[in-house]
Amino acid sequence: MIRSDILRDIAPILSNQLVVCNIGLPSQELHLIDDQPSNFYMLGTMGLSSSIGLGVALAQDKTVISIDGDGSVLTNFGTLPTIANNVADNYILLIIDNGSYGSTGDQPTYAGLKTSLTNVAKACGCENVIECSAADTGKTLQSAIDSKKMTIIVAKCESGNIKVPVITKDPVVIRDRFMKAVQA
Ligand SMILES: [Mg+2]
Repeated sequence: MIRSDILRDIAPILSNQLVVCNIGLPSQELHLIDDQPSNFYMLGTMGLSSSIGLGVALAQDKTVISIDGDGSVLTNFGTLPTIANNVADNYILLIIDNGSYGSTGDQPTYAGLKTSLTNVAKACGCENVIECSAADTGKTLQSAIDSKKMTIIVAKCESGNIKVPVITKDPVVIRDRFMKAVQA
């Protein structure tokens, strides 16, 4: 399974949830598969999906799911100790780890070589860290939502991308409808 297969699988679980999605192909794929006003697509700022999601979770009570990638987490490594030390039990970080920088041509990341993001997250002090297979991502995510405990999920999948159009929505529109969903 590749990232888009996981996104298709979990789309029903993401329905009506506040979702912050990683820049590039992950956002484009999620937009194609199941666009909803409560999705915040990153059109800039690689690496900050997990940070923005944590901030939204800390600021209000609804569940927030950040969908991030291995390359993106590696880009913003300060995010894992920040998450560990600012616990928000309404926050779930789903790292879709395909061991590659998918949006730029599938160059391998260190997460696909020697570095385990699961072990790094645990070493940073994150308490509920679950590594799962691509096929188990849906049930792992649902369990994390039901647990009402801040959870980091590292879903391991194959590298690969589908052909998707770019997101043509204005970033201001994406922001405003997301803010309305937060406040609804
Ligand atoms: Mg990746």
